[in-house]
Amino acid sequence: MAYIVALTGGIGSGKTTIANEFAKLGIEIVDADIIARQVVQPNTPALGAIISHFGPSILSSDGSLNRERLRQIIFSDDTEKKWLNALLHPLIQQKTQNQLQKSNSAYVLWVVPLLIENNLTHLADRILVVDVTPDEQLKRTIQRDNVSEEHVISILNAQSSREKRLSYADDVITNHDGELNIADKVAKLHENYIILAQKKNR
Ligand code: ATP
Repeated sequence: MAYIVALTGGIGSGKTTIANEFAKLGIEIVDADIIARQVVQPNTPALGAIISHFGPSILSSDGSLNRERLRQIIFSDDTEKKWLNALLHPLIQQKTQNQLQKSNSAYVLWVVPLLIENNLTHLADRILVVDVTPDEQLKRTIQRDNVSEEHVISILNAQSSREKRLSYADDVITNHDGELNIADKVAKLHENYIILAQKKNR
């Protein structure tokens, strides 16, 4: 059985930055955002169901799912949101389990932004939270995505609070602005995860 370390944190906290450090140590990464996009790629049954339900206007001109349009619809319509979740969640969960269990590294890092929001904590052996201040999240996301402050604040408000996220953490990695020793922190966590993974499979 794979030993699963879930890496979570709010928008712009630095999950990708930290996951890259684990990857440098040879750890396989399973990315929840990539899986969520894969299950609705052109010619998938899920995209077919979405087109039947919402009509062809849900597609972009290149035939791919217009994710922004879908986001807008479900943001203001709870029934549609429930319909979409019922369709996609089982598919995402199945693909996630497949990828996690076929990993070959000492343990596997599951990068999952909405671990707590989507009640997925029981699927991880260990939870690693990236912690930064909301001000840092705001500044970094505005800079990276070139979006408005209001836009980022609405996402921050829809995600778990910093306190709630930290209450689930087995380990916390701080990633404040200008943090210099991320690689060292990751290396220490890595050593411990190798030991924990060996214990699980003994
Ligand atoms: P999201 O969930 O929004 O995809 P994320 O948690 O994966 O975000 P990253 O993309 O890793 O976050 O980081 C967000 C931005 O902040 C990036 O532009 C990254 O380069 C920058 N960043 C990451 N860590 C730091 C740091 N310690 N100091 C300053 N900037 C940082």
